[in-house]
Amino acid sequence: TVVTDKAKTSSVNSKDRPFPLEWTRNIGIAAHIDAGKTTTTERILFYSGAVHKMGEVHEGSTVTDWMEQERERGITITAAAISCAWNASWGPWKGIKQRINIIDTPGHVDFTAEVERSLRVLDGAVAVFCAVAGVQPQSETVWRQANKYKVPRVAFINKMDRTGADFFRAVSEMREKLKANAHPIFIPIGKEENFSGLVDLVQNVAYSFEEDPADQLGMKPKTMPIPAEMAAQAKEYREKLIEAVCDFDDVIAEKYLNGEEISVEELMLGVRKATISLQFTGVIPGSAFKKKGVQRLLDCVVNYLPSPIDVPPMQGQDSDGKVVEAVVDDKAKMAGLAFKLWNDPFVGRLVFFRVYTGQLPRGMSLYNPRTRRSERVSRLVLMRAIEREEIEVAYAGDICAVVGIKEVITGDTLCDEDFDIRLEPPSFPEPVISMS
Ligand code: GDP
Repeated sequence: TVVTDKAKTSSVNSKDRPFPLEWTRNIGIAAHIDAGKTTTTERILFYSGAVHKMGEVHEGSTVTDWMEQERERGITITAAAISCAWNASWGPWKGIKQRINIIDTPGHVDFTAEVERSLRVLDGAVAVFCAVAGVQPQSETVWRQANKYKVPRVAFINKMDRTGADFFRAVSEMREKLKANAHPIFIPIGKEENFSGLVDLVQNVAYSFEEDPADQLGMKPKTMPIPAEMAAQAKEYREKLIEAVCDFDDVIAEKYLNGEEISVEELMLGVRKATISLQFTGVIPGSAFKKKGVQRLLDCVVNYLPSPIDVPPMQGQDSDGKVVEAVVDDKAKMAGLAFKLWNDPFVGRLVFFRVYTGQLPRGMSLYNPRTRRSERVSRLVLMRAIEREEIEVAYAGDICAVVGIKEVITGDTLCDEDFDIRLEPPSFPEPVISMS
């Protein structure tokens, strides 16, 4: 592979980024129709919206109240990308507000260019399955696509509250039908109408879904000891998890072989490493209707899915056909991918854009190598569930909506005027890169 160093020279000098890139997760939610993608996304936006607008959320307001209100005001869950925030309740980023960009991955059966394009801009995904229906043919398609684009995943086995739900059957099906190296990282406490909590195998603690009148939003999760009748099962599955993670983490492997205790931090980092390696998928049981369960899923997104700097750099090619890497770097020349066009009733025509390297300040002139023309960015917008936030600069790894660019189609690279790169060659979907 020939890699030029063009990406490494500096041309944009803008303000410093407001928070480190390790605090960003660009994720998709992938699911078979009816598995609960919409409901799960709505709940994620509610809890993360609650973080974002903490001061404005009245104690005592329920999820349903909030969603009814927001529906009237136009909650956006159909935008190509929505930014929200989450404070993980434990782990290395505990108490730090992470930006989670949820990128819409259309659930079409066919291998459309659009599905593939949206998968390219993700760093990780939550694969939602139904605990009753298990792995369905369409889930297999989505899974294969995510494999093709090397998207690390955690799996959420939804609808555990429904009659016929079976978490462990779903995990077995993931192994058999998807050939996934799937391992529970949580196990359910009860099932069907008795689904009442989760055991976190990494932390070795339990969570109850029971409502806390003093904490309506459930933002202060309380852990409890693992119920005695589940102790043996939890021990067995924790052991299996550690064994699975040994393949990806030498420290854990050595300790395990020596019979030493593995700490929560070590196991957490081991699961994270294993997930990012793409050879392992952690599985969480849950229900979109269980607030405290969805919140644990958000913790998993932060703790186990990669940030933009944890994944290999995006590759493109220059006009001579040489491979160029868009290495995440604020000081490099800017390059990004327009992955979706969208008409917003309030803002107008938006180009959803992922910055791979450099900085994109408002007012910048963006070059399109396909049309060989430049256009000026008039506004940069972060789409939130209930509002649109104007921003001044988008940084390497960010996802935002760009206003003012007219001559663009999805899949176009937009970059610095003197950066010779095309992130998505015209021979889509399988670029043939000739190298001499
Ligand atoms: P999508 O097609 O994947 O977006 O699925 P939806 O989110 O629209 O959900 C499909 C149906 O399942 C809806 O009627 C939801 O109310 C219901 N549903 C979603 N999640 C759950 C869950 O955890 N438990 C139960 N019992 N129903 C759910």
